[in-house]
Amino acid sequence: MTGLYLHIPFCLRKCPYCDFFSLAGHSDRISEYVKCLVAHMELFRSSQQDPEPFATVFFGGGTPSLLEPAEVEEILRCADHLWGLTEGVEISLEANPGTLNLAKLEGYWAAGVNRLSLGVQSFHPHFIETLGRLHTLADVENSLSWARQAGYRNIGIDLIFGLPGQTREDWRRDLERALAFGPEHLSLYGLTVEEGTDFACLQSQGKLILPGEEACADMYQDAHVFLRAHGYCHYEISNYARPGFQCRHNLIYWRRQPCLGFGAGAHSFLARSWGERWASPPDLGQYVHSLEQGVDPASQLEIFSRQKAMAETFYLGLRTSVGVCEADFVRLYGAKVREVFPGALERLADNLVFEEGCWRMTYESWLLYDFLIREFL
Ligand code: SF4
Repeated sequence: MTGLYLHIPFCLRKCPYCDFFSLAGHSDRISEYVKCLVAHMELFRSSQQDPEPFATVFFGGGTPSLLEPAEVEEILRCADHLWGLTEGVEISLEANPGTLNLAKLEGYWAAGVNRLSLGVQSFHPHFIETLGRLHTLADVENSLSWARQAGYRNIGIDLIFGLPGQTREDWRRDLERALAFGPEHLSLYGLTVEEGTDFACLQSQGKLILPGEEACADMYQDAHVFLRAHGYCHYEISNYARPGFQCRHNLIYWRRQPCLGFGAGAHSFLARSWGERWASPPDLGQYVHSLEQGVDPASQLEIFSRQKAMAETFYLGLRTSVGVCEADFVRLYGAKVREVFPGALERLADNLVFEEGCWRMTYESWLLYDFLIREFL
């Protein structure tokens, strides 16, 4: 499986917690940017030795729903022409509720988009406001209803927990409101305050008080219990899906399969030797300038050694409920997991299980994932 990622770095306003590469106030440059994306794909493909059709395409951002349907169609036509798209390709688009209407959603659908990921974040108006989002609750409700009307049968809702002043009861109501729309997928992220954001500034001035770690852990557990009881599989640390609706594009990352990324700030993972990671600069001007000169803006970030590849395969796999299949690991690297990480496995004995031929992290330990995987870094 090979994936295609397209980064659309435009937003109407910068959210105070966001540290993604996204730019507010540059929407007038979108059509120029789409031309650059197409040029970038053509340039890369002209020197690629081993093209494979894409099984997944993901428009991420930023706010990809600022694109016009005709622009999405142009990009997809280009990808299909240069590489091909497999039968049943999953094509996802991240959308913000305030930027949608029925005609736009129908246009994306006609262009080939068959999976929507909606940045709802909360069903409580005051939390939506705290997060600096531009949409209203009515935008959320309309977007979800228009999406079904337009034909989408694979809709994801993104929510954030651990918000300032949020209680477990508030969070529970968010989950209930989300389920009332019958989404196929839910992504639940704990709010983290990233350096350089407005939230970091407010926090340093004592003006942003977040629930404590224990309260956040409770919310995480509440979601796990509640969503599983409603038929959702907790298939990755932050992701839940109805059976058969896991995000195939994100599974490509966690399985360490190849993915080509285009756009300013986009990363690629190439399956050459033990793996290579490339990235384009997170700088709109530089990205556009390179392509105007006919130069590929991407540069190599990392070439993996066998040891690093084994470590990454293992700790990325532990993010998922399926875990790391021992037989696959041996087939890839000619060594057993126990032989490669004897010390780490011993130290993580309470956090890992070996069942059905796979290594898995317990879901309680997922709360400590970032800390625990230091064993492999
Ligand atoms: S809409 Fe998303 S990408 Fe844009 S600023 Fe807000 S959080 Fe960041």
